Amino acid sequence: MIDQKFYRFPQALLLAIFASVLSSAPAKAMDRSEIAIPDVLGYHTLKCDFHMHTVFSDGLVWPTVRPIEAWRDGLDAISITDHIEYQPHRGDIPTKHDRPYEIAKPTADNNHVILIRGSEITRAMPPGHINGIFLTDCSALATDKWEDAVQAAADQGAFIFWNHPGWTGQQPDGVARWYEEHSMLLEKGLLHGIEVVNHTSYYPEAHRWCLEHGLAMLSNSDVHPPIDHSFEPMSGEHRPVTLVFSKSRDAEGIHEALSAARTAVYHQDKIIGKEDFLQAIFDATVTVKFSEIDLRAGQTTNLQVHNACEVPYRLKLREASEFLESPGSITLPAGKSVLVRVKAKNNATAEPTEIALDYEVENLLVAPDEGCPVTLKLKGIIRE
Ligand SMILES: [Zn+2]
Ligand SMILES: [Zn+2]
Repeated sequence: MIDQKFYRFPQALLLAIFASVLSSAPAKAMDRSEIAIPDVLGYHTLKCDFHMHTVFSDGLVWPTVRPIEAWRDGLDAISITDHIEYQPHRGDIPTKHDRPYEIAKPTADNNHVILIRGSEITRAMPPGHINGIFLTDCSALATDKWEDAVQAAADQGAFIFWNHPGWTGQQPDGVARWYEEHSMLLEKGLLHGIEVVNHTSYYPEAHRWCLEHGLAMLSNSDVHPPIDHSFEPMSGEHRPVTLVFSKSRDAEGIHEALSAARTAVYHQDKIIGKEDFLQAIFDATVTVKFSEIDLRAGQTTNLQVHNACEVPYRLKLREASEFLESPGSITLPAGKSVLVRVKAKNNATAEPTEIALDYEVENLLVAPDEGCPVTLKLKGIIRE
């Protein structure tokens, strides 16, 4: 059967319409999802992923794919860190430790993604897997003894970090353990950071060790397949990201910031890091609109609190204000404003006074299970 209306439509005209639609259709452009976490304390907040694989080890993508994925994910910098000791595709792709960087570099440059040369030293636990980044010669890490591989990275001025310390492939219970070998690396200045988050795993032990030893906290995808096979942006997922607070948006700036341990971890809906940086992120993204209040004792009003960060903040009251009753918990959804009901207590203020509402943000972690203290600041008069 034929649709008669369609059939009668002059064929030449129909073709002309199709042709014009096709020629005027814009090419589908790739888009980039910016990560809405602002610059703070005079530093650029660079979004980075320093651990991923390609077909040159056990990954499933060609190196040029990684900078494109990074651009789309809103990243500033990546490091491709193929395994030195493990190349299951060797029959098809020969061992060439420096080729992933060289192949990916022009694509990274074209997209203004900073590409850092790296490798993964892949040994049994202890010491486990260790990444060296800012290498100049990855092949030099192919040594018999793991100590020599780490030293070869150090000799090149690399930033060296311990990967996935609680990986179930090496610690079946998922608990990270510190060995003598790690003390030795630390004492020799050969350990500069630890992955507090690898892929979807958070290691509280690694978080504590970073705090204890002043090491950089890292959060990396360790992705092997195409990134969206592991983290689905359509479901609101994002890869784990290392936030680097850098003086400049370039490799040298990142190297300096990592060495100074100015990093934080962005994992799922959490940011993990040092209190000063987390507070600065909160203060830069949360505003109390119409923050001047004028109430009588016992009167209530709604504050409007806006959150410009892409992380939803979960607040828990830390200490009750002398002047205002405020909710025990507040959620500030990403990119939205919410109404927060407050009630004036019976403590009158003689004149306009700074009123602080002291909360803890449960998903800004300054230590395992310890949220970041923050303050919502108001100004107001409470009348008798
Ligand atoms: Zn590994
Ligand atoms: Zn890896």
